[in-house]
Amino acid sequence: MLGARSNLCWNSFLVANHQAHGSDRVRVRPRNQIEMEIGGLDSNGRQFKNADEMWREEVGDSQKKDDWYRNGVGYWQGVEASMDGVLGGYGHVNEPDIKASEAFLNTLLTDLFPNAGRNQHLVALDCGSGIGRVTKNLLVRYFNEVDLLEPVSHFLDAARENLAPENLLVSGEHKAASFYCTPLQEFSPDTGRYDVIWIQWCIGHLADDDFVSFFKRAKAGLKPGGFFVLKENLARSGFVLDTEDKSLTRSDMYFKELFTRSGLNIYKFKDQKGFPDELFPVRMYALTTDTWKKIGTSRPKRHANRPGLIK
Ligand code: SAH
Repeated sequence: MLGARSNLCWNSFLVANHQAHGSDRVRVRPRNQIEMEIGGLDSNGRQFKNADEMWREEVGDSQKKDDWYRNGVGYWQGVEASMDGVLGGYGHVNEPDIKASEAFLNTLLTDLFPNAGRNQHLVALDCGSGIGRVTKNLLVRYFNEVDLLEPVSHFLDAARENLAPENLLVSGEHKAASFYCTPLQEFSPDTGRYDVIWIQWCIGHLADDDFVSFFKRAKAGLKPGGFFVLKENLARSGFVLDTEDKSLTRSDMYFKELFTRSGLNIYKFKDQKGFPDELFPVRMYALTTDTWKKIGTSRPKRHANRPGLIK
């Protein structure tokens, strides 16, 4: 899932394809269809002229959609419940990954929560949590309760073990609370439970329609002022379909189109640094909801460090 960019031709194709077709389509298509008109590739080098063509083949009827999700989870059922397993053989990227995530999370908590969240009872959800790597190394240190959502039972069992109180270096006020063995496309959170919903290296398993409906449902799970963090691989343009684990690496523009459809705003984003060159670039997005804007005025100043007009 971390997705080694094993064939560099993919990327040059993606860029070339974008340039060849981008401008004339822009003129004739409504804005939100532009990205979907950009072609993509699969991991065997097969070219698709657009995302619709690929999705029709992969999830075009209910049988195909069931197969897509069964094969996605089936892939992970065959993977060892270890750091190397969930990181596609790149266990050593755990450290730079957590470091960058922690810096990003700190900025967000400082910007958005009174007193950076200190003295508040904070709750997070770790989506597609695998063995609980992100919870153990990051979330449980900042949040009093972390729930985990993971469809592969042997990963969730490992997470339970890794996050047992005796295996955590945090005070008794911080803990892993609930463990849900469910895929994202079937999950509806309890209303208003979470300050942060963290989604890392798993959204590629969702088809576009399930991506959008997941976020629409998950929004109800946020407390007022809560937000999402989505950390994902980026395709340079269009998309790259992994035929083995049934996941899609989307471009930034593709993500933006889906955020719009989901009613989400990008509050901030940050690119991961320090990963091996052969991996896809990785971006962290902090996403807020539309209702969020209405309470924005009661929050600390968000633009204090940006240029501002003298009034
Ligand atoms: N987020 C974890 C694990 C990444 S590996 C980490 O960063 O360490 C990708 C994870 O996505 C696996 O645990 C896999 O089981 C999970 N996954 C696969 N299909 C999923 C789905 N439909 N919904 C939620 N998670 C899924």
